[in-house]
Amino acid sequence: MTLQASPAWAADPGPSNILPGQDTATPVLVEGIRESVDAKAAPADAARGHLAANKSRYKIPRAGSDLVPLSATATGSKDETVRLQQKHRGVEVLGGQYVVRMQKQDGKRVVTGTSGHYFTALNTDVTPQVTEDVAVRRAVAATARRLGADLDKGQAPRSESGDPAATGMTGEAKGLVVLPKGGGVLAYRVTVRGTAPGTGAPVVDEVYVDARSGYPALQYSALKTLAAPKAAMGTAGRAAEGATADGPPAAPPNLVPETGSGARLGGAAASLDIAYDPAAGNYLLADAGRMRATSKGLLSTWDARGKSVSETSGKWPSGIKMFSSPNTTFGGAATDSGAVDAHWNAGQVYDFYKKNFGRDSLDGAGGAVNSLVGVTYYGLPYANAFWDGTKMVYGNGDDEFKPMSADTDVVGHEMTHGIIEHSANLVYAGQSGALNEALADYFGNAIDVTASGTPMSDPAAGLIGEDLCRTKAAADCALRDLN
Ligand SMILES: [Zn+2]
Repeated sequence: MTLQASPAWAADPGPSNILPGQDTATPVLVEGIRESVDAKAAPADAARGHLAANKSRYKIPRAGSDLVPLSATATGSKDETVRLQQKHRGVEVLGGQYVVRMQKQDGKRVVTGTSGHYFTALNTDVTPQVTEDVAVRRAVAATARRLGADLDKGQAPRSESGDPAATGMTGEAKGLVVLPKGGGVLAYRVTVRGTAPGTGAPVVDEVYVDARSGYPALQYSALKTLAAPKAAMGTAGRAAEGATADGPPAAPPNLVPETGSGARLGGAAASLDIAYDPAAGNYLLADAGRMRATSKGLLSTWDARGKSVSETSGKWPSGIKMFSSPNTTFGGAATDSGAVDAHWNAGQVYDFYKKNFGRDSLDGAGGAVNSLVGVTYYGLPYANAFWDGTKMVYGNGDDEFKPMSADTDVVGHEMTHGIIEHSANLVYAGQSGALNEALADYFGNAIDVTASGTPMSDPAAGLIGEDLCRTKAAADCALRDLN
């Protein structure tokens, strides 16, 4: 990467590097500075104060009102990172985020760098010309067309009864956004959920419908899966009934952290962080210690055996329970379903991010971590896993692949999607989508080799999903080889 110094700053001894944005006058990277800011203010206010005080550099005229704090993360003893969301006339700008890095020490605070995208050319009106209802209908139709095109290209299997015209999908309006193209495109963001006609594959699409023309301007899948669907998934089913709740039920009160044990699918014994539920008199695959010391979050593993992907993508399946045991030993079904692996691996991933980056859980704020295991493809084998925006869902595997939670890199991959969603929030399309996938792979792999103590000189160190293989050699069946 070439770092270009802005001519305006060539004679200034301050920033060592300023990389100007290509589409905007706001620099996409400023580093090598140590500039004092308010040490007593809240981090977000100090960050915006810095941007406002340096208008000639940042070209952000109203940092106080056009930048809204998304998060402020403290790392280590003195580093602070503030992430700000750009708004245009009060409407969120997609991809318009600016990050300010600071250090606080001995009662003083300095800005050490900034980065991100702030779009200065926006001038669009923010009054929609089409109604929200029209936008939702157009979004559903556009998703049906996208899936129909996949069918026509042979990218998805077509069933005997599949009717590409029947959608079985619903759209939910999520408000207005400004797409940062030229002067800006005002759009409705619509989430389309359902099952794909013909294949029954779960669908969660984000569709941005131009609020003036009424036509889709941007569209991508919000389901971040591990692998492309296998062609063997042929027999389509109808969306199962009964999956309606939005999130998990409240955790039982008064859980007592305990240490249990279980057998992983690979045969290794695992020490498990579990909880005793005094009301039920049993033990749960609920880690009541790891996060609860600092936050309310619970890391839990749920029995979703028999539930189909259609019941678990973008919604919480009704009636599922955390895995439980009358004593502290988890085996049998907890092993065979991949629950022991999911629970142990999720703890490893949590610890990796906490220890190396000071990050408390996927959302950086100690939020709950939920893993669903044993999920089928309409009752059939399902060798895939995904992050659906709020939770991890692991398929039950097939003839070759064990239940998908049985490899640390797969769990690390899915949970990293969760961390990305709560940090950079890389749009899951085009280059940012490729970056999203790549980061999930790299971090999943790093967590795997760390947890397993695999030296990087091992030729298998770069394999993803190699622990899932039942019959073939690891190199022949692994999902990817990062080497
Ligand atoms: Zn992925």
